[in-house]
Amino acid sequence: MLTGPNSFRYLNGDDLESAMRGKLPWLTLSILSLTQSAMAQGTPYEHRVVCIDPGHPSEVGLGTHGKRTSEIEVAYRVATSLAARLRAEGFVVVMTKHDMMEKVTNRRRAEIANAAGASLLLRLHCDAAASTLSGFALYYPSQPGVTHGVRGPAQDVIRSSAKAAKLMYPAMTKSLEGKLPSQGLKSDLATAIGKKQGALTGSIFSKVPTVLVEMVVLTNPKDEDWILSDEGQQAMVSALDAGIRAALEH
Ligand SMILES: [Zn+2]
Repeated sequence: MLTGPNSFRYLNGDDLESAMRGKLPWLTLSILSLTQSAMAQGTPYEHRVVCIDPGHPSEVGLGTHGKRTSEIEVAYRVATSLAARLRAEGFVVVMTKHDMMEKVTNRRRAEIANAAGASLLLRLHCDAAASTLSGFALYYPSQPGVTHGVRGPAQDVIRSSAKAAKLMYPAMTKSLEGKLPSQGLKSDLATAIGKKQGALTGSIFSKVPTVLVEMVVLTNPKDEDWILSDEGQQAMVSALDAGIRAALEH
């Protein structure tokens, strides 16, 4: 799609013909620059790579369950729907697995995002809670951690992950207003594994900005019913899409 000054619309065939013959050099130049800018820009997100990581099964297991569905199923369904949406917007999408039950370690998930040169590694999960807690939360690495003798992520990845999460969270909150509560923007340290290691395993091995989203509290039947409904799933996909676009806008 061509983007450029409105005046371009008012050019007629004669103008273009004159320009082609070199009679209107300014016009030739402006057409050239329009063409170049259209080729370079395409859609605003063209060629930006997003790695979507539907959580589980991994070395930490199968994840949580609700009464009607599993974390694996919810994460995979949202991931495939989000991938289609992002591709339609011009993003290049890389998935960390190609089958719902494919087991991929958290280290390997990060390595896939690294190899793809992703602008963002988005990790999709669902939470479990003993209480009637409801809603979504975002996690990002705030300091390096250590696992398998490897220390990471690097300071620049910590900075870019924090920046991405801080742009994503308000965009998602706004998109989900009146539909699903926001449970906060948190450090990896707020998770059990993050507290033990200093950061989540997927963060430690990540060389690209990474954010983990606990989309709903799946053990809360209200959240489970919501994410299983077409309306809820689409609302989550829209919120993630808005969050990603906010994070990658700059
Ligand atoms: Zn999980």
